[in-house]
Amino acid sequence: MADVILEEVLLKRSQQKKKTSPLNYKERQFVLTSEKLSYYDYDPEKDKRKSLKGSVDVEKIRFVETVIPEENAIPERHFPFQIIYDEGPLYVFAKNEESRKQWIRKLKNVVRFNKDLAQKYHPWFWVDGKWLCCQQESKQAMGCRKIEPKNSAFTHSRRISRKPLPPTPLEREEKILRPLPPEPTSQVLPPLATEESVIAIYDYSSNSALDLQLIKGDQYTVLEKPDANWWKARNKYGQEGFIPSNYVTEAGNEFDGYDWYCKGMSRNQAESLLKKENKDGGFLVRESSKPGKFTVSLYTKVTGEPGTCRHYNICTAPQGQFYLAEKHFFESIPELINYHQHNSAGLVSRLKYIVSNKNLRAPARLGYGEWEIDPRQLTFLKELGNGQFGVVKYGKWQGVNDVAIKMIKEGSMSEDDFIEEAKVMMKLQHTNLVQLYGVCTKQRPIFIVTEFLVNGCLLNYLQEMMKPVNLVYLLEMCRDISSGMEYLESQKFIHRDLAARNCLVDDCGTVKVTDFGLSRYVLDDEYTSSAGSKFPVRWSPPEVLLYCKFSSKSDVWAFGVLMWEVYTLGKMPYERFNNNEIVEKVTAGLRLYRPQNANETIYTLMKNCWHEKPEERPSFHEIHSNINDLLYELQED
Ligand code: ADP
Ligand code: MG
Repeated sequence: MADVILEEVLLKRSQQKKKTSPLNYKERQFVLTSEKLSYYDYDPEKDKRKSLKGSVDVEKIRFVETVIPEENAIPERHFPFQIIYDEGPLYVFAKNEESRKQWIRKLKNVVRFNKDLAQKYHPWFWVDGKWLCCQQESKQAMGCRKIEPKNSAFTHSRRISRKPLPPTPLEREEKILRPLPPEPTSQVLPPLATEESVIAIYDYSSNSALDLQLIKGDQYTVLEKPDANWWKARNKYGQEGFIPSNYVTEAGNEFDGYDWYCKGMSRNQAESLLKKENKDGGFLVRESSKPGKFTVSLYTKVTGEPGTCRHYNICTAPQGQFYLAEKHFFESIPELINYHQHNSAGLVSRLKYIVSNKNLRAPARLGYGEWEIDPRQLTFLKELGNGQFGVVKYGKWQGVNDVAIKMIKEGSMSEDDFIEEAKVMMKLQHTNLVQLYGVCTKQRPIFIVTEFLVNGCLLNYLQEMMKPVNLVYLLEMCRDISSGMEYLESQKFIHRDLAARNCLVDDCGTVKVTDFGLSRYVLDDEYTSSAGSKFPVRWSPPEVLLYCKFSSKSDVWAFGVLMWEVYTLGKMPYERFNNNEIVEKVTAGLRLYRPQNANETIYTLMKNCWHEKPEERPSFHEIHSNINDLLYELQED
């Protein structure tokens, strides 16, 4: 028999191999060797092993981790850990943290060359047919949290190494069964966020002296996150500087740096994306439905029109190398893909074109703390419309990035104040806000350069929408807007002119809020004075109409009206009344009627935004979460 590495009495939870089998906890004598983890009946009287109750082959273990203890756990169950193998989880409770660490460490050490090591795990228990962490109901469901490389012995370089490495001095020492000193690093869940590692997904050449250059695929350590958009980081040479946070991804997603890797893509999504691209040899790599495995999805038209999709699992050879077909072995998946980009070698075609759901071009970005765009880098291509400040054009920035450019008509804006504010607005960043890229202020007219949204203004979009309308989509639009507004509210930024005309729609139908705060810089009494003809009276609550008192709660009122615009597909609120009549009637308690497309629940949501007293209106945080709940219910049935 192999040498004993560790032996101790631990509490073992029953394995609930059937959904209904009861949970129980028994003391067992656990014995770990390099081949097996076995557990025996334990008799405290004799203090000696009795009959074998069960065992797990070490080579079948997929990972070992701590588990988050149950709420109000009794003291004996404060230090659980999990051993996941082909039959599911085995839960064991150590007597104290020292013992738990030692077991996890020893186990990780013996399993570290296993072929099927998992990359994700469930940090909570499997109980009564469900994972408590993610509510998934299949015991085999892929883990919902990544195993942090720094907490695990499963580093990538080792996973793809062909032969087991020779034992380290420490491993040899372990054979002599000496008690170990306490571990220097603790096993903590959730993983510590202090020294986070990230991988660059785009190249970034620094635009300011404070920036750090990024090289796609390289790893960086995040030192500080002073701001959501710019993080202070260090490269492998020890150089430090600011990096744009959306140019990097958490390390551990080892393929994120590769254009061909589509994280989280299902087989169906892969097929529809490949079909849409309709290119012979179009391919991508995705996680396979088998945890820890990957699949190459390849589209071919060789077999005729229309093309077909083939899915090839990336297999692992006994020695740990990877292969697709015809047993051409590779040390790593990127090497394998690279080879098959040039050789079909058994596949229906070579991998000719990368098809991706990622934006393969880096999002446009100025350097840290910069807001001035060089107007020579702008190309004007098409006029989009005319607004309060003059013409808006579509164009390119640096030849590649689509942008909208507001050319501010002289005398229409208090420019110095705006330029100051633009520095703040540059920092606002959210998927449901139209991103401000920068400004050109060294010439007249000044330009405001923003993200371009191909489907234009929401008001027109609603009015031109195909009938009958999709009610889920209407609510999704409201969810998008409430999400952007929840962010502005959290940043204590008041929009002041929220309405369908100030929202835009992108190519996927996502709605984004624009022109936030801009109304403060308009030089036009008709627009800025609540008695003016261009003042957004129809979107204003009583306290704004009467005392010009703006707040996030006055934005909430406007949001209710905007929801009403969505559900009426772009009707004019209070269409039969003029501005003076509206002031009179709304302050006296009149409210908009229920649109036909809105059921009572939706209408109640709107009406809640129209409480006379601002403090009685919900926050955007509440609104967003209510809409999410409703969407969830709608999609359920
Ligand atoms: P202003 O806010 O100066 O009054 P708008 O924002 O209303 O001007 O812009 C005028 C028109 O230009 C809009 O109705 C819209 O169709 C188009 N537009 C403005 N910004 C964008 C953008 N970022 N992407 C696409 N279209 C835009
Ligand atoms: Mg506007």
